[in-house]
Amino acid sequence: MSLNMIPGLGKSGTSRMRAAASNSGMTRARLPACYTDRVSLQALPPVNEARLVQLFLNLCEINSPSLGEADVVAWAKQHLRAAGLEVHEDGAGAKIGGNGNNLIVWLRGTMPAAPKVFLSAHFDTVEPTEELAYEEQDGVFRSTSDTILGADDYAGLAPAVEAMLALKESGLAHGDVCLLLSVAEEIGLKGAAALETHDLGLDFGFVLDTGPPVGSFVTRTATHDKLEFTIHGKPAHAGKDPEKGINAIQVVAEAVHGMRLGRIGPETTANLGIIAGGTGTNVVCPSVTIKAEARSTSVPDLDAQVDHMIQKFEAAAREFGATVEVTHDRHYRSYEIPESTTVVKIGQTASRSLGLDPALRTTLGGSDANVYNSKGLPCIVMATGMTDIHTHDEHVSRADLVLTAKLALACLLETAKDEYRKS
Ligand SMILES: [Zn+2]
Repeated sequence: MSLNMIPGLGKSGTSRMRAAASNSGMTRARLPACYTDRVSLQALPPVNEARLVQLFLNLCEINSPSLGEADVVAWAKQHLRAAGLEVHEDGAGAKIGGNGNNLIVWLRGTMPAAPKVFLSAHFDTVEPTEELAYEEQDGVFRSTSDTILGADDYAGLAPAVEAMLALKESGLAHGDVCLLLSVAEEIGLKGAAALETHDLGLDFGFVLDTGPPVGSFVTRTATHDKLEFTIHGKPAHAGKDPEKGINAIQVVAEAVHGMRLGRIGPETTANLGIIAGGTGTNVVCPSVTIKAEARSTSVPDLDAQVDHMIQKFEAAAREFGATVEVTHDRHYRSYEIPESTTVVKIGQTASRSLGLDPALRTTLGGSDANVYNSKGLPCIVMATGMTDIHTHDEHVSRADLVLTAKLALACLLETAKDEYRKS
């Protein structure tokens, strides 16, 4: 798709970008005051800012809704192979009803005893995704059309690729590094769920898929349940025989009245998100369907909340002589990666080496990390610069793209240190 080029990019803008890349104050200015470790920052091999930004924008330009990622996957496959990486494509698309597959990308190393570390990001973006136009203003990329920029998750994907290319070009010794690029993340982590990981021999990894501050990591998340309630009442003519009907909307009103919703506790939430039903104003409403969810870092707390919601619907249905059908699905499971584990130690050490704050965060949001952890592949989420995601104001700064690539590169290099060697 042909889209607007921003000033400073593309064929005519390369030199301007190079000028910006050589302005080292740009990223360092973002470092906190406590920053003292300038030596290790300087020791990090360089990342190529122009290449990184161009990759980010190329990805954003390609329309890539969930289950419709074929174009971006094909483009990435060719691009990554041309960059000298080993690229495999799986058959996930057909399994999940999409047209794009996951990519498994390798940068082979020369240190067989080093842990096999992976980076991960997803291809699909939330909609609308078509006809993107964008601008860079004061070093921040934003959409100027009605379309979402796509920083979620290209602000993770592009830096992950750049970290691998910078490592490759550095000539430094390292173990095998893998990049897992998934499809259909936004609609329920479907690509990651379909990805066969056990034969890859991976030890741990970083999923680049949450917002700032860069340097922090998500190590603890919630379990997420999805619920659907269908109330079956009884239709009747609203004018002639209203007493013969059972109004499903009234049943819902009774059920929802006094239902605990919103923030239930510090780490437990519940929401009724979608309601649909009724056939006409002259018909006593025969049925209503409600889609809902609940999340918690504590499975007992989550179970209690889900039971509460189900009981409220069942009690209301009984009271009115209606029936309720309940579908309950454990959408994904929580994980908690202790601070003492290797992957967290590596992430925090790398973050500190760049003068960043290696804070460990909890989130009630999900990512592919939930799936990989449940498959026995320990991983944590690395923060990127993506901001105001899933809204039209979604944006990311050039400086954060560069900083994320540096952090990913620092994690890869840290993994290659002797102290993490597998016996
Ligand atoms: Zn994402």
